[in-house]
Amino acid sequence: MSSISENLATFNKELEGTACHLCAVSKTKPIEMLQEAYDAGQRILGENKVQELVDKNDALPKDIQWHMIGHLQRNKVKYIAPFISLIHSIDSPRLLNEVQKRAAQNDRVINCLLQIYIANEETKFGFSKDEVTDLLQSDTFKTMKSIKIVGVMGMATNTTNKEQVRKEFASLKVLFDDLKNQFNTLENVDLKEISMGMSGDYKIAIEEGSTMVRVGSAIFGARNYGNV
Ligand SMILES: *Cc1c(COP(=O)(O)O)cnc(C)c1O
Repeated sequence: MSSISENLATFNKELEGTACHLCAVSKTKPIEMLQEAYDAGQRILGENKVQELVDKNDALPKDIQWHMIGHLQRNKVKYIAPFISLIHSIDSPRLLNEVQKRAAQNDRVINCLLQIYIANEETKFGFSKDEVTDLLQSDTFKTMKSIKIVGVMGMATNTTNKEQVRKEFASLKVLFDDLKNQFNTLENVDLKEISMGMSGDYKIAIEEGSTMVRVGSAIFGARNYGNV
């Protein structure tokens, strides 16, 4: 098996010359492996559990940009609000309200992505196109000065059907372009990121316009237990 630094080098080479950057997903992996990625130059790390994120932030260098990529419960936002660099997984207006409130308390502006439901599966969280439009048009949204919406995030259906995955990613790109045309003039909107693509489908995602792939197992190796 190749090392973490070799895997990162391979990815960085692959991403060279594209508009896409790498969020290395380190969930369930021990501190030593994250340190190894850091030593190889990786600064963006993605986690999906609040407690793990807080513990790892405490243990590792302060210039790491921590990304929250998993479903986020409102009552846990306060623990990551002081340091989180980007939340990929805003999936309801109530969650966004909470992030706004905690960001304000910390005197910060927290960058957020709106998670969009693109898959053909019932388990995936996220907004529909109509819901996201309603949110961005609302009066409440305009008053949110401590959050900034910098893009969208989506997860494709977990299937071997590549054409379906491609279609879902393409639909996210279309929605992103629509939202950008319609809402980018708002003060708390600056759409530039399309977070899509994981170990199994990142190549398709890049072809369909991803600006940020979230890659875990292809860098750190398979995860031992079902913490997906
Ligand atoms: C775990 C996870 C990833 C990374 O998955 P891999 O298949 O290991 O690359 C990406 N995005 C989200 C939201 C995840 O939970």
